[in-house]
Amino acid sequence: MPLNLYRRHHRTAGKCTGGYPVNLRNYESDELRRGWKKCHCPIYAVGTLNGEFRRRNTKRTDWEEAKVVAFQWESAARWGDEESPVQLIPEIPETIVQPTTMEGAIRLFLSDHAGRLAVNTRRKYEIICRKLAAFSSSKGYIFLEQWTPSDVREFRQSWGVNPLTTSKNLSLVKAFFEFALVNEWIDKNPARLVKDPRMRAGDGPRAAERLPFTDGEIRRMFEACANEYGKRAIKWSKERHDQLAAPGLIANYRYKWSGQDLADFIAVSVYTGLRISDVCAFHIDRVQASGECHIRTTKNGRKVYTWIPDWLQQRIRARAAEHGPLIFGSHTTIDTNSITELWRRRLKNLWRLCEPWEANPTPHRFRHTFARILLQRPNVTVRDVAELLGDTEDVVRRHYAAWVTERQERLTKILQDAFDEKPRPI
Ligand SMILES: [Zn+2]
Repeated sequence: MPLNLYRRHHRTAGKCTGGYPVNLRNYESDELRRGWKKCHCPIYAVGTLNGEFRRRNTKRTDWEEAKVVAFQWESAARWGDEESPVQLIPEIPETIVQPTTMEGAIRLFLSDHAGRLAVNTRRKYEIICRKLAAFSSSKGYIFLEQWTPSDVREFRQSWGVNPLTTSKNLSLVKAFFEFALVNEWIDKNPARLVKDPRMRAGDGPRAAERLPFTDGEIRRMFEACANEYGKRAIKWSKERHDQLAAPGLIANYRYKWSGQDLADFIAVSVYTGLRISDVCAFHIDRVQASGECHIRTTKNGRKVYTWIPDWLQQRIRARAAEHGPLIFGSHTTIDTNSITELWRRRLKNLWRLCEPWEANPTPHRFRHTFARILLQRPNVTVRDVAELLGDTEDVVRRHYAAWVTERQERLTKILQDAFDEKPRPI
């Protein structure tokens, strides 16, 4: 995305309902901080389109809506003027719904799915549909049948580079046109043959997700937690926002989670193999005095434990003393989903500090790292790992084939050594 978005608080003192200083700027991630007060100041886009650098008011106060506006400018590859603005997504009239038009089909697709989807999923559907509508109008298309496979490909390319997101978006686009197809509004689905960028020969569709972090990568993250995270130098003066700050000033937000919090989060993830949502909900009761850590309960009620080292037990207990039994945040005010989203964003900010990456980092890769570390030990069986992860042996063998092989080589070596000097038939 060539454009960046930021909220700029009102130029007139007292007009910002959050009470933020005149002209203060903040990013979307800032608003996820605890204690952030919501306001309705406008969101601006900044960046270069067609060689022209500008900051421009999107005239939206909601991030998702502002993103759609920015996306329209990006897909038109120009800013548009006040006189001849880039055509914004037309409001879809409530009364007339023509299913063969993009607008009509989108409206029917969304209303058909609305009741069945969870809030988050519905939001994703709405966002991708708004992008579809925007892209369609940037092409001057009105009807569904004007879409060709190459339009779908071009649309896909406009999303950026994250292969996982692209793949999810693409499946939504496919679902949209499939919906139109089964309703007989079109004859063929233009998205059907468009390839998922993650699908490569020999790769499963989720290959990118199964990649463990290397020890070196984990070390790099811990270093960034200790030395860089949350210690960005301040660029702009706090008093006058059009002035550069004195050199060496460090951002110091009262509510900002620190690198220590992230280091704890990563350590718990790697040492337990728990999924990010379970780490977010990590309760101190999981940790036994022996250092064993309850990670799951099998179908027949047996508890499965992993073991965590002393230093990590101490960190976990220290967190519980400070934050309460839910060591990564209490869920009383916001739902589990938004807590998970908060941690995802913090991790993303950290990963940005550790760039470049050979493969896109994701929270799932901590769990794979847990599996990788275990499988690399000669005396650990696939069955052990399957039990700890709560997966079947078959899944572990398939997902971690690379590491299982390594383990086999090691086992073979052990067997060779063990039987080398043993008596054999004469
Ligand atoms: Zn404001």
